Amino acid sequence: MTADETEAIHVRFTTTQAQRLRELGADPLVLDGDFVDAAARDAAFKQLQDSLVHDGRRRLQEMRAGHRAPQLVEVETSLRTALTGAGFVQVVTPLIITTEALAKMGIEHGHPLREQVFWLEDGRCLRPMLAPNLYTLLRRLGRIWSRPFGIFEIGPCFRRDSKGASHLNEFSMLNLVELGPAEECRARLEELAALVMDAAGVGEYDLVRTQSEVYGEMVDVEVKGAEVCSAVCGPHPLDGNWGVVEPWVGLGFGLERLIMAREGYPNIERAGRSLAYVDGVRLNV
Ligand code: ATP
Ligand code: MG
Repeated sequence: MTADETEAIHVRFTTTQAQRLRELGADPLVLDGDFVDAAARDAAFKQLQDSLVHDGRRRLQEMRAGHRAPQLVEVETSLRTALTGAGFVQVVTPLIITTEALAKMGIEHGHPLREQVFWLEDGRCLRPMLAPNLYTLLRRLGRIWSRPFGIFEIGPCFRRDSKGASHLNEFSMLNLVELGPAEECRARLEELAALVMDAAGVGEYDLVRTQSEVYGEMVDVEVKGAEVCSAVCGPHPLDGNWGVVEPWVGLGFGLERLIMAREGYPNIERAGRSLAYVDGVRLNV
């Protein structure tokens, strides 16, 4: 092989072309293509771009015709249907919570999550998690309802996370919790994880033991090594702060992470609340 030929098989997409294809949602493997010369590469780029633009416009057309809801809404609907079908009760609680509620979660000065909180005035903040509100409702409803019973909330949470492709400042959390599970906790946790993963349309996942800053020993649900959920079995040392004294099981899922896993998106931005994407379609198509 001559030096010319060796060089020839290493013509790759330019940075601008790769960036454009990535934005349009090209499969990351496609971006690694090798071409015999620049003309072949440019032709391949044009063909790929045209096809991705066509797909994007078709999806937008389906939305316009009323045939599609945004992915976040559609996932939320599937999750709500599955959970209410399993006897869980949906609740809707405030987005603004108090510093005191965070302290009762063990999130005080020096705690890593504390640095990620969006503070408001008067000792209040945008909730970084749903757990404080659900703890409160668990105790209050626990005075009224017999066991076992389960509640869940799906809604926005806020964190100053800036770790790149899988963190957003505002994201959607599903948190479900059951008080007084009838079965052994770990078995129930696995059953509920399966229910949610199935409703979200994600077939393959692993359960992995981990340590959390807030809860200690936990089980994470991972898809190809990426965390989509953290779950825990109570009783837990924090329960005393909330007046909860019974066994419980709780799971917290990120909806954008579930969409990423299902769609194979390399970047979470495409799955979240956005002005650059509508339903995963980049708007400069
Ligand atoms: P990570 O380790 O990935 O930062 P975490 O363990 O801090 O996540 P948890 O407190 O366990 O997150 O929150 C429950 C779920 O909420 C996570 O499994 C994830 O799916 C989602 N989540 C947490 N932080 C974010 C974020 N900044 N953006 C998007 N989703 C998030
Ligand atoms: Mg976690």
